[in-house]
Amino acid sequence: MGKVAVGVAVGVAVAACAVAGVVVGRRVGSRRKWKRVVSVLKELEEACETPVGRLRQVVDAMAVEMHAGLASEGGSKLKMLLTFVDHLPTGSEIGTYYALDLGGTNFRVLRIQLGGRRSSILSQDVERQPIPQHLLTSTSEDLFDFIASTLKQFVEKEESGSEPSPVRTRELGFTFSFPVKQSSLRSGILIKWTKGFAIEDMVGKEVVTLLEAALVRSGLDMRVALLVNDTVGTLALGRYHDADTVAAVIIGTGTNACYLERADAIIKCQGLLTSSGYMVVNMEWGNFWSSHLPRTSYDIDLDSESPNPNDQGFEKMISGMYLGDIVRRVILRISLESDIFGPVSSRLSIPFILQTPLLAAMHEDHSPELKEVAKILKETLEVDGLHARPATPLVGILKKIGRDGSGGITGGRNRSDVKMKRTVVAIEGGLYTSYTMFREYLHEALNEILGDVAQHVSLQVTEDGSGIGGALLAASYSSYSVDGVNML
Ligand code: ADP
Ligand code: MG
Repeated sequence: MGKVAVGVAVGVAVAACAVAGVVVGRRVGSRRKWKRVVSVLKELEEACETPVGRLRQVVDAMAVEMHAGLASEGGSKLKMLLTFVDHLPTGSEIGTYYALDLGGTNFRVLRIQLGGRRSSILSQDVERQPIPQHLLTSTSEDLFDFIASTLKQFVEKEESGSEPSPVRTRELGFTFSFPVKQSSLRSGILIKWTKGFAIEDMVGKEVVTLLEAALVRSGLDMRVALLVNDTVGTLALGRYHDADTVAAVIIGTGTNACYLERADAIIKCQGLLTSSGYMVVNMEWGNFWSSHLPRTSYDIDLDSESPNPNDQGFEKMISGMYLGDIVRRVILRISLESDIFGPVSSRLSIPFILQTPLLAAMHEDHSPELKEVAKILKETLEVDGLHARPATPLVGILKKIGRDGSGGITGGRNRSDVKMKRTVVAIEGGLYTSYTMFREYLHEALNEILGDVAQHVSLQVTEDGSGIGGALLAASYSSYSVDGVNML
């Protein structure tokens, strides 16, 4: 682990072990048993170790995989999907637009009113609700009927009292955060489900067609202007506020990123015509894999017991859906190998019983009234180095687009020759925005890997960006506008 991360990790480890020596020693009543606990944790710490050299290897692997994914279809575990988004909001967009954001734990319906100047969102209304569990494994018709009826109620509430526009159909950006192979802005088929969704009849189907059919069934007059990934929505909102935004990262239930790529670098689509010479590429980095990633036995077990083994390897190592369960596995192992928790609780064997927000709450509660053993465990688990994982692929993007100070993956120039441009990365997702320590670890790791270049890179939180950005893109690509300039 590099300097900063080591400082934190070791500091905590030493403090935790010191307290543990007293408290747990008293309860366990045997140094031998406590030694087992320490050794399990030590093993975990070692397996997670991320010296800066190793982080750089991951960065390099990411940049190489990005290149391979752009070179040929199926050339890499990174799908590097085309989004057909070739221009991003400029600020000139005007009018009222809707968005749907479906992609994880929460489902959102949104409405925004745009004033025609950069950052002039006149109003934005967002309604969030959890997706009913049974719909995750139901039929596409059930899922989309639920979405359409939620949207219809939202529209009726939003528009009550105002006259409907006689000339224009409502327009919607559909943010759908699963791997989709798009063939145009408005069409794409679902490649596979991630994040616990498993509606078999939907794989391989046109996503927009399913939504439109449900909108018709519900009697709502609304046109789907485009289909976007949540990362693309986040990039769009980031760009709306700041023209230097070139990439977006999501760290929520799952994890993913997108960035603006030169069209001529997308070799797998020779002759790709775009109006700007650029296209947003959805990396699907949740599926990234490199032998340099610090993968522990807990990661391996979690993966092999999941419904999709060998799939979404990176997502399973860092994202909100899985982080809590990695820690549950560690606690279970400690419990099996020592009796510091008393008899092994059967609840510890229940997958996903420890949800990530709970983990964060334990991690961040420094109050003295916590039960000491639980406190020691959580503080000791903090050592695990999981925090360094999400920073590395982000630097991978910066490297690929020549913004990490190294001159890109072809290299050649040294750091001092490169005049650094300001680079803004839009970021959102509940894990990043709500888990303070996670965020701090990520920043530390980023600073550590980037060194001096870090001062030119800024992470900008774009709350609800995936949905709002979807609505902004609906405005950019509205059938009532030309090049983002609204014609009405
Ligand atoms: P998505 O859109 O993918 O559902 P969100 O951005 O809404 O994701 O984030 C929800 C996820 O973020 C949850 O599944 C959870 O894993 C994580 N999360 C939310 N709140 C917290 C928290 N306080 N601490 C840690 N993780 C959290
Ligand atoms: Mg989301």
